[in-house]
Amino acid sequence: MADTVVGTSPITVPAWENWARTVAARPARTASPESEDEVASLVAGAAADGLRVRARGSGHSFTPAAVTDGLLLDLAGLSGLTTVRRRPDGTARVTVRAGTPLFHLHHLLAARGLAMTNLGDIDKQTISGAISTGTHGTGLRFGGLATQVCGVRVVTADGVVREVGVDDASGTPERELFELARLGLGTAGVLTAVTIEAVPAFWLRSTERPERLGEFLEDPDAFARSADHAELYWFPGTHRIQAIRNVRLPADEAAQWGTDRSGLKGRLRQLRQEARGLVDDELVTNGVFEVACRLCTAAPILTPGVNRFASKALAARETVAPSYRVFCHKRRVRFREMEYALPREAVGDVVRELADWHHRSGEPVAFPVEVRFAAPDDLWLSTSRGRDTAYVAVHQYQRMPHRRWFDAAERIFVAAQGRPHWGKLHHRTAQDLAEHYPLGDVARVRRAVDPDGVFTNSYADAVLGTGSAGTVR
Ligand SMILES: Cc1cc2nc3c(=O)[nH]c(=O)nc-3n(C[C@H](O)[C@H](O)[C@H](O)COP(=O)(O)OP(=O)(O)OC[C@H]3O[C@@H](n4cnc5c(N)ncnc54)[C@H](O)[C@@H]3O)c2cc1C
Repeated sequence: MADTVVGTSPITVPAWENWARTVAARPARTASPESEDEVASLVAGAAADGLRVRARGSGHSFTPAAVTDGLLLDLAGLSGLTTVRRRPDGTARVTVRAGTPLFHLHHLLAARGLAMTNLGDIDKQTISGAISTGTHGTGLRFGGLATQVCGVRVVTADGVVREVGVDDASGTPERELFELARLGLGTAGVLTAVTIEAVPAFWLRSTERPERLGEFLEDPDAFARSADHAELYWFPGTHRIQAIRNVRLPADEAAQWGTDRSGLKGRLRQLRQEARGLVDDELVTNGVFEVACRLCTAAPILTPGVNRFASKALAARETVAPSYRVFCHKRRVRFREMEYALPREAVGDVVRELADWHHRSGEPVAFPVEVRFAAPDDLWLSTSRGRDTAYVAVHQYQRMPHRRWFDAAERIFVAAQGRPHWGKLHHRTAQDLAEHYPLGDVARVRRAVDPDGVFTNSYADAVLGTGSAGTVR
């Protein structure tokens, strides 16, 4: 699959571009509906005119998942919370409109004493965009965001709104539509609302510290088990990792931490930690890092030295904060990314092979490699489907060549039975992926709810196979 996809229009200025600038599109029509009825009539109208339809989120997929040559819907006007159904144990089913950005959702939930049980690295995505590509965080006992979804409202190709969810009996058309709608690259239809299983708000104690890569490689499982949410960044060309361990705090411990912080000493400690955090964030992910990456672009020979400096400059730090503030970070430096989900037992060998290839090739790679973990689940298109999973992601600064590094990494990932993240760069097709997912079921549901291929695009066709007769132009 091409890393850059540009619409066929002769006009050179793209109408829409994703965050990473790997994808541009020039749809025939765009619309920003503000109600579900409007979405339904826009879909029906476009289908009648023979146009394909795609909703987009915040454009944070690196792949052309959100590209269309037909009608592109921006659901920013469909944002906010609609219902909260609480249970006695403090959990709740919370329904939000489909275009709600995650950073807004955190606050809506926190104001009600609730939270999402796990999150990814950033919160710029919309809830619908995030679940549609299988966005995940880290944690041996936790699944990706789509595993937290228990119901959706979806406008299908006939312009009808359908409400489907986990309460529909297994094997029914409703339940199968739900399977495709909660993680299906937008091929089931346009989501207008998403219901999640929220948990009582919680805090995390986050410990970050430099460690040796060798320690991780000796026992990756022990590392994965060392915290509720463990992850690491390894700087290619060095032997160092930055290990991040986030532990869920019971409410009383979090409250105690708040009290400890209230004295002068506590405040000073807190300020020191926050200043340290700011320095590290600037070094590894933002302002100073951008300057370092530009330096590496101008003189790639400096890259190993910059990596060594970055890995040594990172210090140990501890933060205690509400979950969403610990899980999610700001990412201001643009990069390209490939990430594969691997059987967890393969992660040590895979990281070792990446290190060997990097050592042999001397390839200038200015961004760290990230390792995360997830529990198995049973979602049709989940990258963690049916197996304990480790995610390994390779990145490269947007202005530096990424192909050799990514191609080498992809060969290693594929040999280890890896599955590509649906929203990140890769070259797998439906033929390669058929051994990992029930693509026959996916195609059957797509044919049933969308016989004319209104909700397909070239990316969905490439990775899922053509699920429809595809009569729409
Ligand atoms: C800086 C950065 C950090 C990231 N961090 C992580 C991470 O920690 N973990 C991780 O797993 N991924 C991560 N990603 C990937 C990202 O989470 C996914 O690509 C996600 O899909 C982006 O969401 P979005 O709202 O931007 O959706 P888009 O990219 O705009 O769209 C994604 C898909 O969702 C579909 N879609 C959107 N809205 C609807 C709707 N209403 N109805 C039907 N279909 C819809 C689109 O058609 C498209 O197929 C990161 C990406 C970036 C750029």
